[in-house]
Amino acid sequence: MAMTAKELISTNPATGEELGRVPITSSEDVATAVANAREASRMWALTHFEERAQLVMHAREIILSEMDEIAKLISAETGKPVSEAISMEIVPVLDLMQFFARKAKKILRPRRVGIGLYSLLGRRSKIIYKPWGVVGIIPAWNYPFSIPLGEAAMALMAGNTVVIKPAESTSLTGLKIGEIFAKAAFPEDVVTIVTGAGETGAALVAAAPDKIMFTGSVATGKKIAEGSAKHLTSTVLELGGKDPMVVFADANLGLAAKAAVWGAFCNAGQSCSSVERLYVESSAAEKLTKLIVSETKQLKQGIGTDDDVSVGAMSSERQIRIVEDHVEDFRRAGAKIETGGRRNADAGVRAPLFYEPTVITGATNEMRGMREETFGPTLPIAVFETEEQAIELANDSEFGLTASVWSGDRAKARRVAAHIHAGTVTINEVLYTHGIGQTPWGGFKNSGRGRTHGIEGLFELVQPQHIHENLLPLAPDAWWMPYSKNAGQTFRKFAHTFASGSVLKTIALVPTLLKRIKELIRE
Ligand code: NAD
Repeated sequence: MAMTAKELISTNPATGEELGRVPITSSEDVATAVANAREASRMWALTHFEERAQLVMHAREIILSEMDEIAKLISAETGKPVSEAISMEIVPVLDLMQFFARKAKKILRPRRVGIGLYSLLGRRSKIIYKPWGVVGIIPAWNYPFSIPLGEAAMALMAGNTVVIKPAESTSLTGLKIGEIFAKAAFPEDVVTIVTGAGETGAALVAAAPDKIMFTGSVATGKKIAEGSAKHLTSTVLELGGKDPMVVFADANLGLAAKAAVWGAFCNAGQSCSSVERLYVESSAAEKLTKLIVSETKQLKQGIGTDDDVSVGAMSSERQIRIVEDHVEDFRRAGAKIETGGRRNADAGVRAPLFYEPTVITGATNEMRGMREETFGPTLPIAVFETEEQAIELANDSEFGLTASVWSGDRAKARRVAAHIHAGTVTINEVLYTHGIGQTPWGGFKNSGRGRTHGIEGLFELVQPQHIHENLLPLAPDAWWMPYSKNAGQTFRKFAHTFASGSVLKTIALVPTLLKRIKELIRE
């Protein structure tokens, strides 16, 4: 890849230390990368599933053998603890890779489609699945390994080639993904990494790959949609969230408290499906809050390479300012900061990027930190009185990525879950289902369009092709030309009989049908 003189500097947010420099790929080079990937896709689409699976499994072995090095790189570029990089990125993506390597062939096998009474006319339909060609992947920085790598593995198994533009602050992790695929001996141009910031992402969109898998903010998602519209490029948009956790008084409160703490503070709160709002039934509010505050106070914050650190640095000054803004707004609006609520001056070498895990009570849906995505280590708690109110509060958001419902009464929890508008609702569980590659991931409302992961996610990476066959190509179809009075009468009878789907009614149509066909043969 030819490069311009411009480069990006990757730094460790916890220490401020420079980790490396990467070139900014020019727009021309991005276009060339997509053109080369398209050329390579013709050959790649012809490979057998077994061949693709073997290479994906080889890449998986490489990840396993380099796990510690990879986890340290992820931690250094994002600030998250090394152990969390393993538990929340490496383990899930390894599972995803083996799943799609083993199952893609079966999921994408040609499928017969029932065509009702048309089959009585000797017709058959089947669907075969064709790769799009080139899939452009534009991820965010918060899960810089598992998200682009997982999407790439799925796209590759479906027969596409991929061009990945990692988020600018995690470019080294992105390049590592490219290195893994290269080491696994994927053919040239089947996986390409281009590096740079928003302009490079925009250049990738402008280069018109056949599908774009985007993960990031709503604002950028809209730009991607706009840019994609120029070429009618199909997109999957995985956007922000403001995920509610609803806790009823009959829930296991000890467990709910631990779940809330992990759900709100893992990755320093920078998960799209973080618990961003907690609603607790008023009778349990005091007890749950005490448990949450006590759990939170036990968390050690610091540099991610220390084994006992649970909460690392935030990714950037921009991100920490949003957190400060929201916490300030909570204060001004009369909510109470139970613990945290400030930068942590003692956590690391570069203290400004650590924000203490913060628990807030007295929150209401009118407050900014309950409406806009905070994407930081805050856990605002609000109370509700009734089941209906809990549903209403949870749904009162422009977002709908995930939600969780906590109750000892399963029927109630399932009832509430069914009324929540979100792509995923977990019951007595929180956040982690992005880690289940087998299940679909995606949002309702402004949280996104389309799906990644699961069968639904794999279908996003292929185009269905309908193959329809006439097994008895002996006579013209009754609906062909020329039309006549008899034709008009026949079509009216079709409407009453054939189109009813009833075989019995349609039998009555046979003489009319034969008359019409004879008429066509005579013409
Ligand atoms: P962002 O939108 O700023 O950037 C995301 C990616 O888009 C980056 O690679 C960036 O370089 C690129 N980009 C920026 N401008 C672009 C443009 N004009 N054209 C093309 N590409 C462009 O988002 P972020 O701050 O990196 O990520 C945080 C957001 O991501 C949060 O809102 C979070 O909820 C969301 N997110 C969602 C999911 C999900 O699965 N729904 C997962 C992770 C993160």
